[in-house]
Amino acid sequence: MEIASYKNNWSYPTNVRVGAGRLRELAQCCQQLGMQAPLLITDPGLAALPVVEQALQVCRDGGLQVGLFSAVKGNPTGSNVSDGVAALEAGKHDGVIAFGGGSAIDAAKAVALVARQSCSLWEARNPATVDASLMLPVVAVPTTAGTGSEVGNASVITDEDNHTKRIIFHPRMLPAIVILDPELTVGLPPKLTAATGMDALAHNLEAFLAPTFHPMAEGIALEGMRLVKEYLPRAVRNGQDMDARLQMLVASSMGATAFQRGLGAIHALSHSVGALYDSHHGLLNAIVMPYVMQANRPVIEAEMARAARYLGLPHSDFNGMLDWVLDLRAELELPHTLAEIGVDDTQAVLIGEMSAKDITARTNARPLDAADYQQLFLNALTGKL
Ligand SMILES: [Zn+2]
Repeated sequence: MEIASYKNNWSYPTNVRVGAGRLRELAQCCQQLGMQAPLLITDPGLAALPVVEQALQVCRDGGLQVGLFSAVKGNPTGSNVSDGVAALEAGKHDGVIAFGGGSAIDAAKAVALVARQSCSLWEARNPATVDASLMLPVVAVPTTAGTGSEVGNASVITDEDNHTKRIIFHPRMLPAIVILDPELTVGLPPKLTAATGMDALAHNLEAFLAPTFHPMAEGIALEGMRLVKEYLPRAVRNGQDMDARLQMLVASSMGATAFQRGLGAIHALSHSVGALYDSHHGLLNAIVMPYVMQANRPVIEAEMARAARYLGLPHSDFNGMLDWVLDLRAELELPHTLAEIGVDDTQAVLIGEMSAKDITARTNARPLDAADYQQLFLNALTGKL
């Protein structure tokens, strides 16, 4: 352990406390934001592990009246958010600790956004309806390395009534303080480490390929991909590798910082399949990634060559990148087709339509319509690369 043993404090893209053991500063972070009674929001799986009790104890030792809300689903729903708001009101909480994977952090950010507003969660999708002065402060503590939600100004919440994933966005949703502590991710099993790590790769890759002018985000995306290449296999092989764990947390934050530039068809497709089948977001991205690369191939050859050179791949061209992604998936023992995770073709038309309408489709490297997405889905279902 070398990098992880140092304490680093970054103020970009928000205040980030980086290093092993920094969870011990949680109470201090809450106090810095004026909280006396934070509500820690997480998922039930994590709530059963000692790490949540440890976080609560740090808060109690710091003199905080901390509460716990742990009823957040894997793909968080609108009712998860309203239940969280009810818990927040019942406990008279004045801030939120967003603790866990992307789902828990997304739900927690949405709770902090909407709790004191007069508008509903879905109405808050229009930032103009939100009174920013009423938003509650958030400290975010990721326990997986993938979504980067801790440095994002949006949440993805499933609308159960319409079986669709909706994006709630507000510039002030970016948590004011983030703790990146690799000790919190060492317990993540290899399969989840792999799937969440591939989400980080998908963010960096799609941000890099988005057809928008944002060279700063482009630079971050390139280095984010390099960190995934160097450290994801290490983190999957040896979960105790603290430096690899920390570098993947950073790669994850970089992906979400970079995707201000936009995402693309990997996410458009995985959002719709995820909404209908409730499958793991990172796993879906890992599966559909090479098929989407092929679909975009006519317009991304030059960018792929540039990325391949930066990553030091044996072949500095599109095929070099495609082979790297395929080899990485195989090395991490991730599936090659959607059929392998129980998805079928019964909703192919609907998936095509939903994907084309997904907000991330707007910044895909080239425009794809519903028929294109349907074909792309069928390719990923059956392994037609
Ligand atoms: Zn993602």
